[in-house]
Amino acid sequence: MGQARIAVIGTGYVGLTTGACLASLGHRVTCVDVDEVKVARLAAGRVDILEPGLEELVSRGLSSGRLSFTVDSRRAVADAEGVFLCVPTPMGAGGAADLRAVEAVIAEVGDVLPGGCAVITKSTVPVGTARRIRELLGRGDVPVVANPEFLREGTAVADFLHPDRIVVGSDDESAARWVAGLYQELGAPNVITDAASAELVKYAANCFLAMKLSYVNATAELCERLGADIESVTEGMGYDRRIGRSFLKPGPGWGGSCLPKDTHALVQVAESVGFDFSLLSAAIVENIAQRDRIVAKIAEAVGGLAGARIGVLGLAFKAGTNDLRDSPALSVTAMLAAHGAEVIAYDPAVGGDLPGMTVVDDPYLTAKGSDGIVVLTEWDEFRRLDWSYLAELMHGESVVDTRNLLDPRTIRNAGLSWIGLGRPRQRLVTPA
Ligand code: NAD
Repeated sequence: MGQARIAVIGTGYVGLTTGACLASLGHRVTCVDVDEVKVARLAAGRVDILEPGLEELVSRGLSSGRLSFTVDSRRAVADAEGVFLCVPTPMGAGGAADLRAVEAVIAEVGDVLPGGCAVITKSTVPVGTARRIRELLGRGDVPVVANPEFLREGTAVADFLHPDRIVVGSDDESAARWVAGLYQELGAPNVITDAASAELVKYAANCFLAMKLSYVNATAELCERLGADIESVTEGMGYDRRIGRSFLKPGPGWGGSCLPKDTHALVQVAESVGFDFSLLSAAIVENIAQRDRIVAKIAEAVGGLAGARIGVLGLAFKAGTNDLRDSPALSVTAMLAAHGAEVIAYDPAVGGDLPGMTVVDDPYLTAKGSDGIVVLTEWDEFRRLDWSYLAELMHGESVVDTRNLLDPRTIRNAGLSWIGLGRPRQRLVTPA
């Protein structure tokens, strides 16, 4: 396919990555956002989210003239051949996806879309949204295409440019094939299907990952009770190609901007057609239980939370991002504070004021006078801290590693006690 004229509405993690990457593939892209400050900063080449390679792509796009930014959505779509919707679809009342931003965009631009221009949902939207958009548009000359996005925050550009697959669904097959053609150069397998199936792929995939994580967290708990080691158990499982190695690490519960809202939304979608998706509901319940277990583990490690001073390493929902949306670290720190603990936190990508804690810009400050240290995000740099120095600064001696990130021997050699998830403490430590 040659150069296409594209508008991208919403320039957050997904929209900005989509716009910058499509421009890098040779398309002419206008990115739109309601946030005037963001648009002005992006137009000057400034990217505020932490995504390797994104700022470079944005500045290359700007200087080539293939990428531009505006707040004027009606103008941006006026000569577009395809309009990508990349606006938020947060959790709404009762857990269902809130589609107000999608509907607002359709109301705003519906009458100025050129005939034949494809409206493409890249936001995660429930099954039936393509049909609903067609109804809202009331235009037979504008095809609607579902094209869910699978990028991960922290590796968004690499994921976009090297996707495992491109999923495109529409009841207008030629529109679906046109959208798939935009990515042709990437050489990824295409799944071209109907709109409902494409919409469901995204939820089915995310919910499967959430279930896998809940499963491994529950298995880690079982390991503790049975005296088994989750590292060996998951290693043994991961060699099985039907299972695979990824998403087999226990943690403080899954979070982030997608898994919590997408699991709730799919439970709601299932309910709306009379199906009780109890398997998925159980994964959500297990995720809440995991946070409770983490807080209980910390309380036990420091001898009670009331009045305790807890140093926290990591606030982002995962390493490699500064995104705090639905971060399990924030849920855990809020619970610690609610139980009367004082929380001093450090994250390499997060600064500023956050409720219920003091955020510091030096990891060693979290240790000063602390009764315990808790690792909540798997930033690699925490492994390389001077743990002997941290031990000197601490008042207590417990390190609760909710990511099984640290080398237990390093911690033990520093005179501290390492408490991980699903790992028998005794067998891991070098005798003093
Ligand atoms: P985001 O919050 O980072 O970005 C959304 C952007 O849309 C913001 O800049 C906001 O100002 C803008 N916006 C809101 N309403 C608008 C409107 N009416 N017109 C124009 N702009 C508007 O969100 P995100 O993380 O990029 O997620 C967007 C969608 O993509 C969601 O449905 C999400 O589930 C899905 N998704 C996200 C990821 C991810 O890793 N973040 C991955 C795959 C899919």
